[in-house]
Amino acid sequence: MAKAIEVEKQEIFKKGDPYYCPECQREHKKGKIYNQHLKYVMTPEKEKSEENLIEKDDNEELEKDMQAESKEGYMDDFYPEGEENELLDEISEEEMLAEGEDENEDNANQIEECLEAVKNLPGVGDATFRKLKKAGFKSLESLAFTPPTIIQQESGLGEKTVASLIKASMEQLNIGFKSAEEVWEQRKNITRITTGSQELDNLLGGGIETGSLTELFGEFRTGKTQIMHQLCVNVQLPREKGGLEGGALYIDTEGTFRPERIIQMAEALDLDHQKILKNIIFGRAYNSDHQILLIKEAANLIREKNIKLIIVDSLIGHFRSEYIGRGTLANRQQIINQHLHDLLRLCDIYVDLAVVVSNQVQAKPDVFYGNPLQAAGGNVVAHGSTIRVYLRKGKGEQRIAKIVDAPHLPEGEAIFSITEEGIKD
Ligand code: ADP
Ligand code: MG
Repeated sequence: MAKAIEVEKQEIFKKGDPYYCPECQREHKKGKIYNQHLKYVMTPEKEKSEENLIEKDDNEELEKDMQAESKEGYMDDFYPEGEENELLDEISEEEMLAEGEDENEDNANQIEECLEAVKNLPGVGDATFRKLKKAGFKSLESLAFTPPTIIQQESGLGEKTVASLIKASMEQLNIGFKSAEEVWEQRKNITRITTGSQELDNLLGGGIETGSLTELFGEFRTGKTQIMHQLCVNVQLPREKGGLEGGALYIDTEGTFRPERIIQMAEALDLDHQKILKNIIFGRAYNSDHQILLIKEAANLIREKNIKLIIVDSLIGHFRSEYIGRGTLANRQQIINQHLHDLLRLCDIYVDLAVVVSNQVQAKPDVFYGNPLQAAGGNVVAHGSTIRVYLRKGKGEQRIAKIVDAPHLPEGEAIFSITEEGIKD
């Protein structure tokens, strides 16, 4: 399990909090089971793991890599232990200052913690660590998430080394098979971002869920982009006001992101708009390859910038226009599928991250009953998204949202408005 997740658990689970025991099917507040659980959540992760994750003999290439590195001129042997660590500290401090993070001590601590976790991975010596850091792999998540070929290319490490690093990161992050009990534990950490409309929040079971991918689909001007702007503001609110006290990453494929609109919405909530704008990291994707790359890079930014919301507006647009006439439909679907899985994997790794994508609808004139409008991307998108919200126009500024299929939400509708001040009831 990840160090970072463990820290969150410690923050969330305090002594005195009731512990729901799935075996007894009731909450414990004291007693043996309670004390055992308390001890478990308070134990540092390192002590919990029984053995090193990488076997020695599985590891020839790793050793070769490391030997080669120390010959390559890092001059490991010339630095006494303490001096070298000081050097590392200096670099990271410099980098943080350059990024203007000095005002945010929590954030700096978090970066340090992520780096520490990478450094503590089995098989990571100083030289390997420096290569990873230099190439921008500063957290377990970024290692677990990035395709091996990219890690190899950027860090210069060998294939086997990279494979074992990924395996170890994944194990520490607890990715892979897990028991339903663990899934339940994880789902308990799910929080929500308010949309600004009580009605819409209710429909969504309290707001946009973290750990899930939410797809907003509908025709032109039904409010997809407006809701996404609003979420970028709202995610920054304190938790008691429906936010997550975090930043947003906005990937714009259509050129419709408007900071002016963010300012309007922030001011309507009495927030300092400069601060709000600063916490929205913006990326304009000019084509589908670029869009895919931006999401792959996102893994590195999430911890560093305390990102709690990723927006992709819109998901399919580029793929749709680029693959007309070029390649087959199957080819396009496969690439969309991979991109979608990159996004879903982010949701899986970061329990406190919400991903929201928009999707255009296309008219299907051959359908004579039911709704002739269908989300672009066909079945691939329908199966990959976890919560799908269909938007349509109502009277004037009113819009109607309908849950299309969500694993745990009843189907239903909500009416909300797009106003000067943003999304409202
Ligand atoms: P979509 O992304 O689904 O195509 P948008 O989210 O861009 O649609 O919604 C556009 C609609 O939002 C406009 O038709 C308008 O009604 C409303 N809107 C946009 N900006 C404002 C504003 N400043 N004040 C009030 N309504 C606005
Ligand atoms: Mg739009």
